[in-house]
Amino acid sequence: MSTSRDRRRLLQSAAVLAAAPALPAAAPAKRDFLKELGVRPIINAAGAYTMFTATLMRPETVQAIEAMSHRFVRLDELNDAVGKRIAQMLGAPAAMVTSGAAAALLAGTAGVLTGNNPNLIKTIPDLPGPRREVLVQKSHRFPYDHLVRNTGIKLIEVETREQFLNAIGPQTAMLLYLNKADGDGQIRMEEFIQIGKQRNIPTFNDAAADVPPVENLLKPIRLGFDLTCVSGGKGIRGPQSAGILAGRPDLIAAARLNSPPNSDTIARCCKVNKEEMVGMMVALELFLKEDQTSLYREWDRRVELIRKSVSGITSVKAEPFTPKIANQTPHLRVTWDPAARKLTPPQLMQKLREGDPSIEVVPIPFPNYIEIATTMMQPGEAEIVARRLKEALS
Ligand SMILES: *Cc1c(COP(=O)(O)O)cnc(C)c1O
Repeated sequence: MSTSRDRRRLLQSAAVLAAAPALPAAAPAKRDFLKELGVRPIINAAGAYTMFTATLMRPETVQAIEAMSHRFVRLDELNDAVGKRIAQMLGAPAAMVTSGAAAALLAGTAGVLTGNNPNLIKTIPDLPGPRREVLVQKSHRFPYDHLVRNTGIKLIEVETREQFLNAIGPQTAMLLYLNKADGDGQIRMEEFIQIGKQRNIPTFNDAAADVPPVENLLKPIRLGFDLTCVSGGKGIRGPQSAGILAGRPDLIAAARLNSPPNSDTIARCCKVNKEEMVGMMVALELFLKEDQTSLYREWDRRVELIRKSVSGITSVKAEPFTPKIANQTPHLRVTWDPAARKLTPPQLMQKLREGDPSIEVVPIPFPNYIEIATTMMQPGEAEIVARRLKEALS
């Protein structure tokens, strides 16, 4: 029930409104930032590549980020709570949100080297004593092991099982595994973990680009890698600047001591705020609930649509394929004789890029083919890619 004072106030404010210049009838038109900046949007026919902004977050994730942007919290308290929820979802003993899988490699390795020793945390990468080593099978080397090397360790490459076992010594700090290279080296996941446990050396598996299918992430965690990391902004479709490090509680705690909000730390540059933490959690929830079968069916449909559009062109071959473990989603490989068609793969890629709308395919200059991924395409875009590819190759 309103009092007379309330009514008076209401009338006064109505009078003020009436006297004020007319307010815009609706919310101001949304700014078109890309137009304003002269930046062209693209059709992403490449997949989750950072250079193409990787993935689109689901609306619920963006809502979570927006909601968190209005609140202050103690960052460590939030990280504890979010880490616990993420760990439960993945069946891991503990977890934390990192700023991408790359940051997880840096903070995780740092944690292995320093434990919770404040002096070591301050000193790394110039740790006292003989230089510590991380062992990796040669076939498991990858560009992002740079983040492991940032901690000052020496990366030791080995090829055979015998070399691997012989290389382990008092200086060995960690054993590094690349999930997508499983089966490429002599030592596979199960044995790798077993060696780590027998010799009491932490094992770290990088599964950054390996979901979906989700089993590619759950398996190394279940088998018992001491640390496993994954990108938040690839298949999980979380914030592009987020990732997850999951594993042994003492190592997760040590990785966090080497990270923000702590100032004098090696991973202080890899900041994660509340928005990404909660956005990452919500994205993972949604990802785990998603109907993977129908998603794959749609991705396959797009591959088939594009395949059909170019398969009638003389000397052009279009084959569906699914990469092993990393980016394990439907792709199309389109092959032709560049000399006969007077068109090299980079020239075709340039044509697709310069046309309207601009299209990006897998950004690797293969000798006589291009590759297309259909996971990031939005409704209607597979049809556009099919038409544009046919025009470009005809
Ligand atoms: C993409 C990728 C990374 C880096 O992940 P970010 O989440 O972008 O930091 C690390 N390792 C591998 C194997 C990757 O594919």
